[in-house]
Amino acid sequence: MDFEYGIIGGGPAGYTAAMNLAKRGHSVVLFEKDKLGGTCMNRGCIPTKSILHSAEIYSNLKKAFEFGISVDLSNFEYSKVIEKKDRTVEKIRKSLEFAVKNSGVKIIYEQACIKDKNTILAGDNEYRTGKIIYACGSKPKELKGLEFDGEFIVNSDDLLNRTTLPESVLIVGSGAIGTEWTRIFSAFDVNVTVVELAEHLIPAADIEVSKRIERIYKQKGIKFYLGDSINRIEGKKVYLKSGAEILPDIILAAAGRTPVCQICDGVEVLGDSCGEIQLAHYAIHQAAELSAGIPFEKKLTPYVIYGEPEIAWAGLREQDIDESYKKTTLPVTALGKSWCDDATDGFIKIITKDNRIYGAHIVSREASSVLHTLLLAIQQRIPLNKLQELCFAHPTYSEGVYELVMRI
Ligand SMILES: Cc1cc2nc3c(=O)[nH]c(=O)nc-3n(C[C@H](O)[C@H](O)[C@H](O)COP(=O)(O)OP(=O)(O)OC[C@H]3O[C@@H](n4cnc5c(N)ncnc54)[C@H](O)[C@@H]3O)c2cc1C
Repeated sequence: MDFEYGIIGGGPAGYTAAMNLAKRGHSVVLFEKDKLGGTCMNRGCIPTKSILHSAEIYSNLKKAFEFGISVDLSNFEYSKVIEKKDRTVEKIRKSLEFAVKNSGVKIIYEQACIKDKNTILAGDNEYRTGKIIYACGSKPKELKGLEFDGEFIVNSDDLLNRTTLPESVLIVGSGAIGTEWTRIFSAFDVNVTVVELAEHLIPAADIEVSKRIERIYKQKGIKFYLGDSINRIEGKKVYLKSGAEILPDIILAAAGRTPVCQICDGVEVLGDSCGEIQLAHYAIHQAAELSAGIPFEKKLTPYVIYGEPEIAWAGLREQDIDESYKKTTLPVTALGKSWCDDATDGFIKIITKDNRIYGAHIVSREASSVLHTLLLAIQQRIPLNKLQELCFAHPTYSEGVYELVMRI
């Protein structure tokens, strides 16, 4: 046997498992056909959030005069946003490469495939391993009639390398990827239209969250069609099933991702390849469970959609509960910090029963940070009266948690 563990795929699932196993004294070989860090580092979480941050800066600068600051945006070049994103990705990826190598993992940059449950083929070589972990991720889902051409019909990978902004975009799908790009484009003054097959935007979210985002889109002039889809495309003209006609510069197809998976008995499959929850932290915790024996509650996986305002949730949603549960909502206008930041649109909502929290849904600046306090309470079953004893700093968005639990 060449190695105790052979891992195919160097994304969050693969590298987490590899490092944990190596640190525990196992011999590990990790195969990556492209760049270490996977979708998350190179085409997903990190590059998108870097571009989104530039979009937020741009957006804030446009209204800077309200805060007593005048700026000239006439020199704005979107290509510089992409350059900054590339530098950020490069920097973080280098740290990751260093950490993986330092943990004692042998990295082989080759496309690999499973020959049998103890043999991996890569390049011209065969590697005998005690156990194989398969973590090859996912790829953008191609819909019939909406095949990617990289120019007019694009996916999220294509967008990351475009150095110019379109004048208008039609975004198909309002999940996390579609919503984050809606926010990026809208902040950069691109004319955005969203078409969503479900009856509400962000179908996986609590219904009140979806409705609030719809209201925010209307205020921002972002058009959206619900319960609708593309009927046909002629040239650049898009006909929706509802009869609406749109003439976008580009179409972003963001209707999910397809798992990359080679099934083989006796092989562990992790991360996006499983076709379960396609999030980096889910992949990381799944890998930690397998490689370090750290369990996690899958049904309490948090969801975050970035941008202004952030959207974050975990646990039961309004559409999951019966009358035995109670829902309590605090508008973020109740928080002094939101007024200082000019970020008053949003709410923090919790779903409770028998002195405990079962679900948390937030639309607010810093929603992702606030959520984790509530997530801890949900997971550790902390009674509401115990949360009341926690001293929250003022002025913060987190003190919304205190305000909420004092209202129950
Ligand atoms: C635009 C976008 C934004 C996102 N934003 C977020 C976010 O904010 N938060 C979040 O939690 N998640 C986000 N995600 C999802 C996140 O990126 C994935 O859930 C995560 O990367 C999955 O990790 P993974 O290890 O399973 O797969 P991947 O990260 O896809 O890694 C798989 C790796 O396997 C390699 N590989 C594939 N086949 C082979 C082969 N045969 N041989 C060798 N190597 C191979 C690939 O090159 C890749 O590096 C986003 C995704 C996208 C597309």
